[in-house]
Amino acid sequence: MKARDPIADLRRIAFLLERANEATYRVRAFRSAAKALAGLPATEVAARADNGTLTELAGVGDVTARCVAESLAGEEPVYLRRLVATEGSDLDAEATALRAALKGDCHTHSDWSDGGSPIEEMALAAVELGHEYLVLTDHSPRLTVARGLTADRLRRQLDHVAQVNAALPEGFRILTGIEVDILADGSLDQDDELLARLDVVVGSVHSGLKDDRAKMTRRMLTAVANPHLDILGHVTGRMVSSRPAGVTGPGDRGHRARTRAESDFDADAVFAACAEYGTAVEINSRPERQDPPKRLIRRALEAGCRFAINTDAHAPGQLDWQRFGCERAALCGVPVDSVVNTWSAKQLVAWTHERA
Ligand SMILES: [Zn+2]
Ligand SMILES: [Zn+2]
Repeated sequence: MKARDPIADLRRIAFLLERANEATYRVRAFRSAAKALAGLPATEVAARADNGTLTELAGVGDVTARCVAESLAGEEPVYLRRLVATEGSDLDAEATALRAALKGDCHTHSDWSDGGSPIEEMALAAVELGHEYLVLTDHSPRLTVARGLTADRLRRQLDHVAQVNAALPEGFRILTGIEVDILADGSLDQDDELLARLDVVVGSVHSGLKDDRAKMTRRMLTAVANPHLDILGHVTGRMVSSRPAGVTGPGDRGHRARTRAESDFDADAVFAACAEYGTAVEINSRPERQDPPKRLIRRALEAGCRFAINTDAHAPGQLDWQRFGCERAALCGVPVDSVVNTWSAKQLVAWTHERA
């Protein structure tokens, strides 16, 4: 294929990002890369793209280098293609359509761990929102600050959920689940026998968030490859803002941090593993998390991952926060059919159980 002009492509990306009011530092990355390349002979740019040394140039990073390589190969850079694809569309309409397609929520907490309300209350709120199911994912034992459930308490919870389900309106069901801690070695913090019994297993990192890149990557890869893990929760662990009003208090223990940087890990390796093992990547809707950030949602999409748009609700009203996740997903062009909680409860459980 005939090579494209990589500098023109970088500038076009910067322009579209600016027009979409994206963060200045991101725009600058593309403008700086364009400037760095403009000062070099085209033959050197091509040679560097060939031998992978573009990133040695000041102002050129991994993302911009990939765009350049794609341009030179005659392809419209994936980054540009996504911007163009989402640019002309009505994002509001797309976010609304995505929200309307969601049939349930795969990450919620009750007062059995650090949520503020009984399971029944959460379920009734979900019924009122029009959901077909709510996956109850209270914390695992190691997260003692959040009153994580021991194996015995979880067994009791399963019995209790069966009773609550019997009294709920027909057509709605609480699905059993857990938000299991991903431990330092990547193993999951609950008995295998129980993990196998649960309908949905969300796994998240809650400790050692500052582990170095190699260790965190290994830890996450081990968890993603575990057949019990269905959804990788709040992938980076970041906190972008203080808690919104109404989210404070004893009902939200474990979410006390104000802001926190993203964990450092090889996102491409982790998303490639998610795609390979069929583990869905969570788009966490909590306003203070907004995790993963949009650039990583785009990378996960490129890797071919599935997603789950979850609220991580710790109170009934928070179950309505899915809209926030849908807006971010729509901005990144996440297709409806890649989101596992657009499926019926039956399909969802068939998917998790075929996995383990
Ligand atoms: Zn969590
Ligand atoms: Zn949670």
